[in-house]
Amino acid sequence: MNLAIRARLTFLYCAVLGLTFVAFFWICDLGFRHSIETTVNDSSRTNLETVRRLLANTASQGDESVRAELRDLSNLWANGALLEVADAKGTWLFRSPQFLRASPSLPQLAANDIAFFTTNLDSSQYRVALGLVEVAGERFQIHAAVPTEPFDQALDRFRIIEKEALPLLVLLASLLGYWLSGKSLQPVNRIIQTAEQIGAQNLSRRLEVPEPRDELRHLTETLNAMLARIEASFQRITQFTADASHDLRTPVAVIRTTAEIALRRSRPAEEYRDALSRILLTSVETSDLLENLLTLARADAGAAGLEMLPLDLNAHLRKVQEQGAVLAADKSLSITLRTPDVPVWVRGDEIAIHRLLLILIDNAVKYTPHGGHCEISLSQNQAHAHIAVKDTGIGIPESDLDCIFERFRRADRARSRETPGAGLGLAIARWITHMHGGTISAESTLGMGSVFHIRLPVSASA
Ligand code: ADP
Repeated sequence: MNLAIRARLTFLYCAVLGLTFVAFFWICDLGFRHSIETTVNDSSRTNLETVRRLLANTASQGDESVRAELRDLSNLWANGALLEVADAKGTWLFRSPQFLRASPSLPQLAANDIAFFTTNLDSSQYRVALGLVEVAGERFQIHAAVPTEPFDQALDRFRIIEKEALPLLVLLASLLGYWLSGKSLQPVNRIIQTAEQIGAQNLSRRLEVPEPRDELRHLTETLNAMLARIEASFQRITQFTADASHDLRTPVAVIRTTAEIALRRSRPAEEYRDALSRILLTSVETSDLLENLLTLARADAGAAGLEMLPLDLNAHLRKVQEQGAVLAADKSLSITLRTPDVPVWVRGDEIAIHRLLLILIDNAVKYTPHGGHCEISLSQNQAHAHIAVKDTGIGIPESDLDCIFERFRRADRARSRETPGAGLGLAIARWITHMHGGTISAESTLGMGSVFHIRLPVSASA
């Protein structure tokens, strides 16, 4: 059922209260009936007792005298109580006219016992106390009846009130329920209204936190915390887009200006070649940058699609070192590799791991002056494989060590302006490591060199 919470709460409230009222009236009805029964039983028993005392006093004076006394007593009872008395032989000593007309069959009883039953006498209902009494050695059977009509009328009146009051009470309960649910949902509506106004332009706005420490306060605080996270992500994306556009604008401007200048007038072939080489170099850098941007965008979208397979880091590092050696040769750097004699198995995406290692080796080469040294080492304990890429380069200021893994972050921009790069390599390296359940960290001494540590969980074997 697609009902608003307010309607559902009202409905529930009504249903619960309606059932409660029905149960309450039913219990009252039961109590009422029980109390009527007790009252009429008591009343008929009292009458029966009166007759027994009368018999005890008059039995010795003969039947006629008993009859006269019983008649007087019956006349005395103004509330419509009836009476009939039979002696041991079954001869009626006295019978009220209603008993005469109805002449019910008398139930059998043990001596000195009293039983109650309800019967119709002359179209009215009576509660009858039937007693077998022994007076001066003689047995009498007494029926003392009291009319139940006045009580039945009171019960009927109560039931009429019940029937009229129930729908009224349920209606009142519905109105009260509607009002109450509206009131308790007011803070929710306020949250909805504020939330509807929050958009990309005012992501810093927060929901008003209600005073009482209840679920709504918890909900508001949770939503505010979520908004804070969304705002932070949004800021990161905005910053990323701004940085990416900025970094792309520079090489595009270089390509365009170089081409424009070259074409302004006719030049010797040598100058054209120079211009084209610059354009080519810048294009390669730009396409690297685009490739990195694409990787990070895919990573953000969770669409990187890594294929995790058993991978021997030992064999793989050897391949990467060969590539690194080509890079290092230009700067007369030496690269050494220290690995154990056994394979080191991890589960990983071969292309991604290759890229991760190449980023670190490329950086080591890039930030190490001519004649320096770079060492790649691999070791393993029970849980982790540890790769360290160490160089004797320019080092990283301590204050920058934490942020170099952020996107577009370059340590000490003044120093690295000469070195090509956009500050995306380590962000990609960190993402790849995390995707493999590993960690990456850096240690460095300014002017002495840096070490990058990668720890990846080992897998049992191939
Ligand atoms: P890029 O090299 O393109 O600038 P990275 O994300 O790979 O981007 O590196 C971020 C920054 O960390 C670099 O700009 C540099 O300042 C610093 N850095 C990374 N590796 C080294 C290293 N081996 N030696 C010194 N500084 C480094």
